Amino acid sequence: VAVAKLKSEYGTFDITIYQEINKDCKEHVFISMGDYRNGPVRIHSECFTGDVLASLTCDCGSQLHQALSLIANERKGAIVYLRQEGRDIGLSEKIKAYYLQQNNGMDTIEANLFLGHKPDNRNFHQAAWILKDQGFKKVHLLTNNPVKMEYLKLHGLDVDVENLQGRVNPDNYKYLYTKKIKMGHKIKLD
Ligand SMILES: [Zn+2]
Repeated sequence: VAVAKLKSEYGTFDITIYQEINKDCKEHVFISMGDYRNGPVRIHSECFTGDVLASLTCDCGSQLHQALSLIANERKGAIVYLRQEGRDIGLSEKIKAYYLQQNNGMDTIEANLFLGHKPDNRNFHQAAWILKDQGFKKVHLLTNNPVKMEYLKLHGLDVDVENLQGRVNPDNYKYLYTKKIKMGHKIKLD
C-alpha cells in the first residue's frame, strides 16, 4: 500500500508496507537494501518491549539489530517485519504473561496456556506471500526457528538457513531455554 526510501543509522533502505485484507488490517513491513534477493533475510515478529525498549527479557531486539547490521555490511538483504506482537497474543496479554512468569514461577509457554492462548499463535504465511511478491525464489534466512523455514517451503520457496543467535543474558536465559527445549529453537546456551 505504500513505498518510500528510509534513511537509518544502518544505511538507506527501501520500505514497503503491506496491509492484510481482513478486519484487522494489520500492516506488515518489508525493508530492503540493494540486491536484496541475494542477501540475508530476516522474518521478524514485532516485539515492542524488545525492539523499541531494549528489554532484556527476550532476544528480539538483539536479533533485529544483528540482522540490520548484517544487511548493512553486505549492502543487500531484507527484513519482513510482521505485526504479531507477543507471539501474536498482543501486548497486554504478553505483559500479563510476564507477570505470571515473574510472580507465579511459570515459563513462557505455561503462562500463555494459563491465559488461554496457544504457546505460539504466530504464522508465517504473510511472510511467504510478501517474499514471493518481492520476487524471491530462494531465501537465505537468518533465524534459529525451524518453523519459519517450514512455512516458506510450504509456499514453494527454496530456503537455506543461517543461524541467528540472539544475545543471551541472565534475564532471558530461562525464556531462551524454554524456546530451545519446548519449541525446538536452535539456540546455543552455555
Ligand atoms: Zn521479544
